[in-house]
This record gives sequence, C-alpha cells and structure tokens, in this order.
Amino acid sequence: MIYWIDPDKTTTIGEGRSGEQTSGRVLLIEDDASFAESLRRLLTGQGHDVHHCASGGTGLAVLGQREFDVVLIDLNLPDTHGHDVIRAIRAMEIDAVLIVVSGETEIDAAILALRLGAMDYVRKPLEPEILAHSVRRAIRQRQLMRDNANFQVRLSRSERLHRFLVERSPDIIFILDRDGRINYLNDRPQALLGLDKKQLLNRHFARMVHEHDRERARYAFSPRKLRETARHSVELRLRSALDVPGFRHFEIRLAAVDGVDGDGRDAAGAGELEMYYGVARDITARREVEELATFQANHDILTGLPNRNLFRDHLGLALVQARRNMERLAVLFLNIDRFKPINDLFGHARADELLCRVGERIQRCLRGSDTLARFVGDEFLVLNTGIKTDQEVLAIVARIDQELEAPFHLAGRNVSVTISAGIATFPEHGDSAEALIRHANIALYHGRLKGGRSHTFFMPEMGETTSQRLRLQSELRRAIDQAEFELYFQPQVDLLTRHINGVEALIRWNHPERGLLPPGDFLPLAEEAGLIGEIGEWVTRMVCAKLTAWEGEGIAPARVAINISPHHLDQTDFVERFMALLAERAVEPRRIEVELTENLFIRDPGAVAKKLQALAAHGVMIAIDDFGTQYSSLSYLQKFPIHTLKIDKSFVWEIDREYRQHAIIKAIISIAHGLGLNLIAEGVETDEQLRFLQTQGCDEIQGYLISKPLPAATLESLLRAQRARSVAAVAPQPKD
Ligand code: C2E
Ligand code: CA
Ligand code: CA
Repeated sequence: MIYWIDPDKTTTIGEGRSGEQTSGRVLLIEDDASFAESLRRLLTGQGHDVHHCASGGTGLAVLGQREFDVVLIDLNLPDTHGHDVIRAIRAMEIDAVLIVVSGETEIDAAILALRLGAMDYVRKPLEPEILAHSVRRAIRQRQLMRDNANFQVRLSRSERLHRFLVERSPDIIFILDRDGRINYLNDRPQALLGLDKKQLLNRHFARMVHEHDRERARYAFSPRKLRETARHSVELRLRSALDVPGFRHFEIRLAAVDGVDGDGRDAAGAGELEMYYGVARDITARREVEELATFQANHDILTGLPNRNLFRDHLGLALVQARRNMERLAVLFLNIDRFKPINDLFGHARADELLCRVGERIQRCLRGSDTLARFVGDEFLVLNTGIKTDQEVLAIVARIDQELEAPFHLAGRNVSVTISAGIATFPEHGDSAEALIRHANIALYHGRLKGGRSHTFFMPEMGETTSQRLRLQSELRRAIDQAEFELYFQPQVDLLTRHINGVEALIRWNHPERGLLPPGDFLPLAEEAGLIGEIGEWVTRMVCAKLTAWEGEGIAPARVAINISPHHLDQTDFVERFMALLAERAVEPRRIEVELTENLFIRDPGAVAKKLQALAAHGVMIAIDDFGTQYSSLSYLQKFPIHTLKIDKSFVWEIDREYRQHAIIKAIISIAHGLGLNLIAEGVETDEQLRFLQTQGCDEIQGYLISKPLPAATLESLLRAQRARSVAAVAPQPKD
C-alpha cells in the first residue's frame, strides 16, 4: 500500500485508483486530556492527522470549518452528551465516519449510538490495536462510500445511462396502469425467471405471480388498493421457469408516478394517466438464509441429518404415541469403532466426508418412519418405532453391519468401518427421552469395553456408572490432587497485524499411563462426576498465576480466555468464588475473558443473566463460544452483557466448500459489527479461510494456521519475540 502525506494540506491521497487509503484526518472529541493525548499520539504514529477538541461544542464548530474522515466521540462530554453530538453531526450532513469511544459498558448506549449513525463502538479502557484497526476500517469504508458516490454522480449525467440502469438493473422494473396492467417492463424477467416479456406486456401483473400468491397479488394490485396507498410494498413469489420450485421470492415496491410528462400521457395526449412505478427485488437468497437458520437449529450442519434436539422432539412424540397404543420402541446409540485413527490419518475434512457417507448408508437400512440423527462427533442415534421383538431391533443392526461391509473409498484408499450399538427399549429401559438416550449410551459404552462391533441391550445392573467410569472418576480426583493437569494456550491474533491480542487457555491431562489426554476425553466425565467446578477453579487459578508472571516480564497479552462449563457456572456462588480467585493475584478483571456456550441460555436464562451481569459489572469480559451451533436466537446478544462472539470452526471450515453457509458467516460478522462486539473466528486452518474472513472484516482469528495450542513455555517464547519486535519498532536507531 503506498500513500503520501501532503504536509501543507495534511491530506492523505491514495496512490492511483487501486491504492487503498489507510490514514486520514481524525477529529477527536474527548474531554479527558491525558487520554486524548495518548490517543493522539497513537493515531499520529499510524500516520493519521489528528485534531483534538475537548468539548462537543468546539468539536461541532471545527467540523463546520474543516473536513474529516473519522470522528472519534466520547459519549460523556462536559457540555453535551455524545449522542447529541452525533445527532448534530448528522443534521449538518457531514459524511465523516463516526466512532464512539466511551467507558459506558451499557450495550444500550452502543446500540443507540449505532442507530444514530455511528459506525463502530470502542469501549474504554481500550486496546490501542483495536482502536487503530477500527479507525483504519472506517477510513477504508469512507473511501468506498466516496468512490460509490462518485460513481453515482457520473451515472446520473445522461439519459442514456438512466436507460442503461433500468435495463441492467438487477431488479425487475416495471410500470403499471391504474388497473394493474403492465405498461413497461425491463428485460430482467427473461434472465431472472425465464419469462417472455412480450407475453407479459399489457397483461395484469398477477400473470407474473406464482399461483400460490396470485390471489394476494390481485388484491395488492387492484385499482382501489393502488390508489389508496401512494407507496407500498409486498412480498410475493414470482413464477420462474428456471427454478425447481417454480418460483423465486421477491420484494415488490410500488410508487405512484407523478410529474412525468409525455410518457405519462396516453397516446392521444388526452388527460394524465394514473401510473405506478414498481421495482421487484429478488430476495430468494435472504429467504433461503432464513430457512437455513431454522433448519440449522434442528439439523446437523455436516450431514444434514436431524440433530439431537430434533431427535429428542421426535422421540418425545413417539413416546406419547407408544404409550397410547401400548407399543414398544427402541433407541439405538451408534458409534463408529476406532474413528479417531481415521481422523488423525485423513484429516478432519476427509473424516467429515466419511461421517456423511456412513450416515447415508445407515439411513438406507431404516424405514421412512424411523429417525436417524447425528448426536455428536462419530455418534449417531436411531429411533425405531413400532417394534415387537428384540430380534427386530437386532435385524436392523445386522442390516447396518451388512451395509457397511463394502469399504469406503477415501482419498484413494479403502477404509473399512464398523459400528457398535447400544440399545434401550421402551417401556423396559426407561420412559422418558432422556432416560432412553442415556441408557442406550451406557449400553454402548459397556459393549465397547469388550471391543468393536458390539451390540448391547441396556441392563439395569449396568447402573448409571460403570466400573470403568468409576475408575476414571477416581483417577480424575487424583489428577486434581496431584496436579496432573496442564494448561496449553492458543493465540488469538489480530487478523491484519498478526499481533497476539489474547490467548485461550485449554486444559490437558498428563495421564501417567495414557499420556496427554485432550479435554474431550475427560471433561464430560468430570462434569458427570461433579468435579468440573474444581477443575475450572484450578484453571482459573493457574491462568491468574501465569498472567501475573507474564506481566512481571512485560510480555502479557491483553487478555486470557478461560472456558467455563455450564455446570460450573451453575454453582450458586460461582461469581464470588471466581472473583476471589482473581483477587488472590490482583488480576485486573478486564484481562480475563470467560468463554461460555450458547446452550447456557436455554437452561435458566434468569439466573444466567444475573451471573453474567455481575461478572461484567466487575469488568470481566464475556465471550460466546462456538457461536451459531447450538441455540440460534440472537435476542440474548442484546439482553446479556456480551463482548465477544467466537464463530464456530464448523462455519469457518465451510469456507473452502462451495456451500450456502457462507451467508451465515457473513450474517454473523455483520451482526457482531452492528452490536459493536469483538469477533473471533476459530479453527482457521487455510489461507483461503483467512482471506475470506479478511474481506468480510472479521477482527481476530484463532486456529492451526497461526498456531496450535501451545505449552506455556512455547507461548512465552512467542510473546517475548513479539515484544522484541514492538520494542525494535519504536526504539531509536542504535548508533554504530
Ligand atoms: P473450544 O473452546 O471450542 O476450543 C477450541 C478447540 O479447537 C481446542 O480443542 C483447540 O485445540 C481446537 N482448535 C483450535 N484451532 C483449531 C484448528 O485450526 N483446527 C482444529 N481442527 N482444531 C482447532 P481442545 O483443546 O481439544 O478443547 C476442546 C474443548 O474442550 C474446547 O473447545 C472447550 O470446550 C473444552 N475445554 C478445553 N479446556 C477447557 C477448560 O479449561 N475448561 C472447560 N470447561 N472446558 C475446556
Ligand atoms: Ca473456547
Ligand atoms: Ca469454540
């Protein structure tokens, strides 16, 4: 990127048309003098021309005289409120980009500022990198807006271009007469819908509408309705010869045409005709995203199969019916034997592909009335209704075994897959969905102790815990007592500068016999055994100790993220105990970010809200982990004090595939920006993913591409190297 600064005019000019402007004129409206001075220094250091005003009044006066690219506004000013300054700036029709810098942690203040037209909201105390990034983004955006505006001006110069616009518009543009007949139509219906323009002209608009919506169209475009509302819009499905369902979704806006001479008169030049100008915009993609979001709440993204939520629903309904008809049903918990080595050998993308194909083969062995769901990882669930004998259930398992006999071709190799099944039946093994799923799982677990390809019916003597489990639980106890756990840290880096803004603490278990175990191998058990609170506290204590040590050495990252399990958060005195651990080491709360998953919000929103509010009030940052995978309601983002969204890796991994999820990841990014939330994309493994996230304006990334989770010592070397680089950048040149 090349740019130069004209010392007289102090404007920054992009180099050529393709050059990208990254520095500009910044007005700082901020009453805290020392804070303003440090901001000024930071931004000047980045090449920006910074002007400072200490009050809203002087800020507005300066804005009246000079042009700025970006205005940084403090919400708490001595003379007026920042919101009023934003309003005034908007009233003056100044097109500078507004960024609110404020200590108010209220999301309401942020939302109001954004509604009033601020582009971004940066909280105090702030991280210089975050602000610098935000300013750079603002300048880029303004440049885009300018380019766009210039383009519009050029276009409007000639009538020919107008025509061009209408004909080439991505929208269908048409004119209707008073009876709703089409008088004019651009060429879009041909390309968009495969409809012949000639057959539509002089016909009622309803001819373009799909039969499901035709009645509504006749009403919406009836003479009375047209005249009643000078301007209105409707959503309708238009007929399409090109799409499989036979329609596409459109938003249609209508306005009465007035002040048109010549064209507005009839051929004989007699009195003015009533005309209506219409624009139909294809919103099929938006509709599909909405439908996808609903689908996604009930389905597994990878396989497209129902997820465990939908499975529970189906099972619940099936139980009602089975009870009424005195029938039996079976729940099968299926697990692929030795899936982990396949995963390690072929990588997750291929392993995912295999999961999909295994799912397809299992599906072939079931009847239409059965439900197959993906539970998690390599585990599937089958609901089998209307069975009479255990033999019938075993016959299904045998069919699945048979179907899986032919090897799968994966990356040029043959892979053989077998499964094990745990089976629980109603009414023998439980009468609720939860009990049946749990008992099928216990049966599976029992069977697998004997090796793969097992088929095991639940038996009450298996109990809720198996001996294996008991052993693991006692080992976990020992692990807590003898400090067999170790923390790894994974960097979270600024996508543009690659600066390590934060690290996420991830636990490992140095098992004396089994080696280093990942959290997935022991945390679920720790949760069941009620040991998760103790483990969580160990993690927190350890993080505080590390952070203090790093600070002493001057290499601490801005924040450290800790994963908190919902079961741990459930403890009534969670907040007090958590804050006490921070206080032990005098760790500043804002350096700690707790990562929570969305399913928390379904459990007990009231109690969760209180705890999150208390944490946030203490200054602790709150991140939503695996965002988008569990509870797809966005309303809690506004209700709860949330600072960061972590986009789940499954969305990031969809980036390399041509798949519709792109729309979701884009939507997540724009939601996060709209609400002023920090955004971290997880599981970034390829340059392609990185580039896509960069173009979408994502802030931070975490993933193998940058770094795997590292032992503390390795991370510390990285942090030292980073400090050395930044010291070198600001230090005076050494004399030689
Ligand atoms: P998580 O919070 O979603 O953590 C991210 C997981 O993704 C980590 O797995 C990390 O190693 C992995 N990962 C990061 N980047 C990539 C990538 O580019 N590709 C791939 N394939 N994987 C990547 P890990 O360490 O096995 O942790 C698994 C889960 O265990 C975590 O998921 C978290 O939910 C839980 N966990 C880990 N440590 C703790 C802890 O101290 N307390 C609690 N309650 N849960 C923890
Ligand atoms: Ca996490
Ligand atoms: Ca995650």
